[in-house]
Amino acid sequence: MRRVTRAAEQISDGQDLSRRIDLGPGRDEIYTLAATFDRMFARLEASFQAEKQFTPDASHELRTPVAVILAQCEEAQADPSQRDHALQVIQSQARDMSALIGQLLTLVRADQGRLNLEKEPIDLGELTQMVAAQTEELAAAKGIRVECRADAGLWVQGDETMLVRMLLNLTENAVKYGREGGFVRITLSRQGDCLEGRVEDDGIGIAPQQQERIWERFYQADPSRSPSQGGVGLGLPMVRTIVQAHGGRVWAESRPGGGSVFLFRLPALEPVSQKLSEK
Ligand code: ADP
Repeated sequence: MRRVTRAAEQISDGQDLSRRIDLGPGRDEIYTLAATFDRMFARLEASFQAEKQFTPDASHELRTPVAVILAQCEEAQADPSQRDHALQVIQSQARDMSALIGQLLTLVRADQGRLNLEKEPIDLGELTQMVAAQTEELAAAKGIRVECRADAGLWVQGDETMLVRMLLNLTENAVKYGREGGFVRITLSRQGDCLEGRVEDDGIGIAPQQQERIWERFYQADPSRSPSQGGVGLGLPMVRTIVQAHGGRVWAESRPGGGSVFLFRLPALEPVSQKLSEK
């Protein structure tokens, strides 16, 4: 018990979250308690570490496009014939920054419990069809075929803007990490009390040791393989935040070289309650 108290004191006095009680194996309740505390300290340490890293990572990611924009401005001023090209680069960098800031805001608001979703009955089937159509242009550039199997009339109680962002992120990833000439299949179906969405590709896949990490902020399994346009490893954390804020869960099933499936489940809105809330 003295060791438990001492470790807790050291952590709270010196704020040294790497301290552990470390009683080792044993059979009675005190050992179990110590092991439970150690696991809790490990989780606390990991979440403090992630929080500390968030601001430097975000600043770094914003700094790069700003540097590119400044360089392009200088180039256009020095050589007017380069203006059109410079403007194009500036526009694309500004778009990336705008998307990045949107993702940062969503995550920070969710952290602070201020996500303020505007929930209403949404036909997720229709929304999925719309997102699939929107993905087609991006996919066509890589010769990827988009298949959508989602019937209208599958309802959830949700925030339309957030649900579109969530779906677009998954479909755009499926194209980004998909196989040239391959397919992206988007499915939505009713499973008991839930709607289950699947976004499937036949692309590079994800190594087993990376399958949990891809949900961490700023994590990219292989940045050199991430195409340069957009994306800094905030997409999936945002997807998870949105799904959880709707009372659902999201996960991935994948193997390297064998493509990936991203699945989500959201509580379905019964047609009867949907009609009531429309009144
Ligand atoms: P990014 O901006 O890098 O796409 P995300 O948070 O959306 O960030 O994804 C994190 C990482 O997960 C990506 O860098 C990529 O390595 C991996 N990933 C996401 N979707 C897929 C997919 N469909 N197939 C393979 N890897 C994926």
